[in-house]
Amino acid sequence: MIKAVRGTRDLLPPETALWNFVEAAVRDVFRAYNFQEIRTPIFEETALFARGVGEETDIVAKEMYTWEDRARAASEKGQSLTLRPENTAGVVRAYIEHKLWDRGLNKLYYIGPQFRRERPQKGRYRQFYQIGAEVIGPPSAGSESPARDAEVLEMLATLLDRVGIADWNLELNSVGTPADRAAFNEALRTALEPVKEKMCGDCQRRAVTNPLRVFDCKVPGDQPIIETLPRITQFLGEDSRKHFDAVQEILTKVGVRFSLNDRLVRGLDYYTRTAFEFTHGALGAQNAILGGGRYDGLSEALGGPAAPGIGFAIGEDRLVMSLKETAEGVLRKPDVYVAPMAGMNGESARLARELRRHDLVVELGDEGFRLKKSFEAATKAGAKYILIVGENEVKADAFAVKNLATGEQVSVPRAELARRIQG
Ligand code: AMP
Repeated sequence: MIKAVRGTRDLLPPETALWNFVEAAVRDVFRAYNFQEIRTPIFEETALFARGVGEETDIVAKEMYTWEDRARAASEKGQSLTLRPENTAGVVRAYIEHKLWDRGLNKLYYIGPQFRRERPQKGRYRQFYQIGAEVIGPPSAGSESPARDAEVLEMLATLLDRVGIADWNLELNSVGTPADRAAFNEALRTALEPVKEKMCGDCQRRAVTNPLRVFDCKVPGDQPIIETLPRITQFLGEDSRKHFDAVQEILTKVGVRFSLNDRLVRGLDYYTRTAFEFTHGALGAQNAILGGGRYDGLSEALGGPAAPGIGFAIGEDRLVMSLKETAEGVLRKPDVYVAPMAGMNGESARLARELRRHDLVVELGDEGFRLKKSFEAATKAGAKYILIVGENEVKADAFAVKNLATGEQVSVPRAELARRIQG
């Protein structure tokens, strides 16, 4: 038997109702902040992620699904392609490719699958889903303003509250400008020099190539050493500090609670200034529901114009896992089961069509069923009512409607059926 590949899974009903519940809330909330949807391809040129995410990140160094695409002609070279491990690089590529700044498009969101070859565990998959948004634009449009950071964070707080996740935790940090980070990296390198031998292989490599990434380390034995390292907050320049203070001030003003975490540097290289994560206790080891931050240099790194931006990616799998809401609670069961008697499939289909036009959920049976089987099917489907379509009913243009919970049965004229069932 062929099964779904390790790290991938089927999302089945009724659980898919929860996914739809989340996505409907997302679309609703994001619209209120004037974000519009973008859909980018699931695979891109490998170079986009190498440049846009960073060669030294775990994602690019270890986790991408990359392949050499077959050349179409002998004279052509094959192209290196990669299943997207995240969506910010794709959105910024599209922003540059279509000159979206010319169309005034600076607030975009996406919902879709991402792919990383990570070790699968609870809350961690190789195909997982992200909901993300980016505010990106020319500096003249105010895209660098701390007001944008605060607005994005406040929108996320609103979304989480809206889907009923009340006990979230917003962790906030600033990773400074590239200049702040260069100074910090230097200090880290110096601090790591005498101790790196005692650290894991990844950290020994990071200590040389990109010391900041040491803070991504999850190896328990390395944590006491990491605790003693300098922190980015000690290296923030005047501008970064002011920006960070302004973000916090607005958040306080609008009543979004947060805590500062100076170890938070996030897994991606292109982040500048504000970095954040929302965590949720119930998730266990993989407790980050979402992460994001500012990426002021990304557009230029990808060959575009200066276009400061800030964005985030919510792990939809984890968001759904954190919900108190159940699939049963959001699922819409059939309002009515239409049960055709012998020879009544056509009449029943006509009736079902009328009822569905009134926005009712209708499950349609079959004339081959006996009445008993129709009742069983209606009950199994969770329908509120069963409606019986026999020759007499059609002649009288009035139908027997039975409430399956109370057992009450009445005859209802065709014209009143929809209203009766809705009520
Ligand atoms: P990142 O793009 O690494 O900043 O991740 C953003 C969010 O995506 C995380 O906070 C997680 O909720 C989610 N996420 C990342 N990797 C995975 C994965 N392998 N499986 C499930 N969710 C993930």
